[in-house]
Amino acid sequence: MKCRVAVIGAGVVGLCSAVRIQDSLGDDLEIVIYTEDKSPNTTGDVAAGFWAPYFIQNTPTEKIISGYHFVSVTCEPSKLLPYLEKKFVNRGGKIIIKKIESFSQLNEYDLIINCTGLYSKYLNSDDKVRPIRGQIARVEAPWQFDIQMDDSDDGHYIIPNQDCVILGGTHQINDWNVNPTNVDTTFILDGCAQLVPALKGAKIIKHQVGLRPGRDFVKLELENRNVDGKIIHIIHNYGHGGCGVTLCYGCGGEVAELARVVLRNIRKMCKKYLGNTRQSSLLELELEFIY
Ligand SMILES: Cc1cc2nc3c(=O)[nH]c(=O)nc-3n(C[C@H](O)[C@H](O)[C@H](O)COP(=O)(O)OP(=O)(O)OC[C@H]3O[C@@H](n4cnc5c(N)ncnc54)[C@H](O)[C@@H]3O)c2cc1C
Repeated sequence: MKCRVAVIGAGVVGLCSAVRIQDSLGDDLEIVIYTEDKSPNTTGDVAAGFWAPYFIQNTPTEKIISGYHFVSVTCEPSKLLPYLEKKFVNRGGKIIIKKIESFSQLNEYDLIINCTGLYSKYLNSDDKVRPIRGQIARVEAPWQFDIQMDDSDDGHYIIPNQDCVILGGTHQINDWNVNPTNVDTTFILDGCAQLVPALKGAKIIKHQVGLRPGRDFVKLELENRNVDGKIIHIIHNYGHGGCGVTLCYGCGGEVAELARVVLRNIRKMCKKYLGNTRQSSLLELELEFIY
């Protein structure tokens, strides 16, 4: 019996969750991603992809001294996203472009993985989710190799990618404006040129805005929801704020582990009561499901 899994969202978090479920559960699985949009139109496509777990929200300020230097990597989402998408599809995963308005639309699936980022505010009625607006500029500066970040103001940063350098940026809480503004452009260009004067006059490729899915804590948990008398199993994985690229692989692993437990229980139930055949009405079995 093949279990059926629906992932909602094809940002870094949705794709990593899907790929890690494939890694863990292999061929015993039919897995579909439903997504309103995909790369190059996700939040990650705006991000520079600096791998920086240190910046996770609520890091106690006493742990931050004055300045620090460390070695890390960048994982460019504009390259990571197509890579993950290809990996997922090559292993038999399907991607369907469709906006999901309610979890009940997917109630024929054994398990739903909610990776809708900021949109979980509506899909999951989660008031804790809020946008943290980030405007950046992509410029040509091939001589810039180091990352530089200034935590003393609203967060100027300079992050080289392979084909450009990202200058940032803003962190405007509860600001839904997805268009670049002149005020922010000036703030970014002047602030970064103060950090590295050679950037003054660097050729601008484009300005971009992304809305980080802000939340005090990442929501990564299993919910067994009763929808119209049917239990729907949902694993939520959203609210990664400014660290989604950093956290997506690890959180995807946690999701895969939870999924393995849920699907193993469903298989056990089916085998016990239905002789390993799939039936449309699994309601009684679900009621017996031990959570
Ligand atoms: C300027 C900026 C710089 C950043 N820099 C970094 C960085 O250096 N390092 C780092 O780790 N992180 C960084 N981030 C944060 C990172 O980009 C985000 O945390 C991450 O992209 C969030 O990924 P996600 O998959 O949760 O959300 P999203 O990328 O927003 O994906 C959500 C997906 O769900 C889909 N969706 C939404 N609603 C529905 C629906 N109802 N039905 C179907 N599909 C739906 C969308 O179409 C999309 O595919 C940065 C963010 C910004 C804006």
